[in-house]
Amino acid sequence: MDKMPYRFDGPPGQEDMPYLLTPGPLTTSRTVKASMLADWGSRDIEFRRVVAEIREGLLDLAGSEGEHECVIMQGSGTFAIEAALGSFCPKAEAKTLVVANGAYGDRAAAILARLGRPVTKIDKGDSAAPSAEDVVAALAADPAISHVWVIHCETTSGIVNPIVEIAQAVKARGKICMVDAMSSFGAIPLDMKDGFDVMVSSSNKCIEGVPGFSYVVVKRDMLIASKGMSHSVVLDLYEQWKGLEANGQFRFTPPTHALVAFHQALKEHAEEGGVAARGARYRQNAEILVRGMREMGFSTLLSDNEAGPIIQTFLTPRDPNFDFERFYEDLRVRGFAIYPGKLTKRPSFRIGTIGKVDEKVMRAALKAIREVLADMGVKDLSPLDS
Ligand SMILES: *Cc1c(COP(=O)(O)O)cnc(C)c1O
Repeated sequence: MDKMPYRFDGPPGQEDMPYLLTPGPLTTSRTVKASMLADWGSRDIEFRRVVAEIREGLLDLAGSEGEHECVIMQGSGTFAIEAALGSFCPKAEAKTLVVANGAYGDRAAAILARLGRPVTKIDKGDSAAPSAEDVVAALAADPAISHVWVIHCETTSGIVNPIVEIAQAVKARGKICMVDAMSSFGAIPLDMKDGFDVMVSSSNKCIEGVPGFSYVVVKRDMLIASKGMSHSVVLDLYEQWKGLEANGQFRFTPPTHALVAFHQALKEHAEEGGVAARGARYRQNAEILVRGMREMGFSTLLSDNEAGPIIQTFLTPRDPNFDFERFYEDLRVRGFAIYPGKLTKRPSFRIGTIGKVDEKVMRAALKAIREVLADMGVKDLSPLDS
């Protein structure tokens, strides 16, 4: 195909493709993209150094002080989730509690069920945060629970869960605490020392790399104890770690370009000012977007203190002229790719506020949204179900 499948006349700065206002893959910097214009050999010393520096960089970002390991896994975030659940969660007698408030919690529980690992779930629906008290009550009710799986930012709604309070409650009761920090790591602070035994994230979210791999940060003694636990050859974290430790190489073909791009993305993350600066930019994006959308008449699913800086959920307007597919396509032609909703009950759509985008992009997106609404003749922006 020598022509893009849509007419693009979006704002300057992102010449060839729309901005991805999504939870990932997301818009990356030109320099991250440019770093992929070379073919690296997976056995070469330079590439092995890139991999080693990524693993060290991630351990630093996670607040590790030498007691953890970082294991990189080929594949998207869910591959590392399944690898971690299969490597660390008990096979019998003891069980794993999944603290769910959206699709990603449900998916973790479904993976455990598929693996035949005992699992129980707290289900808060998809727009309320679980509390430490919810977790304490579940642990008290079922002494067989030995492991707890929590989600940091539930990308289904964008809600940020109180994971430090939950981890402290879990550790005070002597249980293992595992966190899916996929859509938050790098933008919302997370310190393993706050009570996390295992943390999982991926290349194409807040570090602003491209898709291709995921990673697990885990206490070294727990990783060593997991030998032989995994249900899978490729997803076996212990064996993956052994391979990386032995010669700095992956057991199976690594996504070389994605790793080199991530190495560049980590450098740019540090240059921007690390987690604090990245989080501040995303918060500003979110504030500008939400304010502008509310001025137009849109309603957000979450209140300002529940919503995080990662992705914003808006309720579908009741105006019969509002057609999401047309809204989506007309925005894309103007240079902005938004995201459908994922709530089970309320019709909604989402706009991501992460990636290499800033307040200028947010203001341009708001302008495009106003134009598209006018084109569609949408006037009543009150939510469909209120
Ligand atoms: C993105 C994401 C994942 C992983 O999804 P993939 O499609 O496998 O990359 C897992 N959990 C959360 C909270 C996420 O945002």
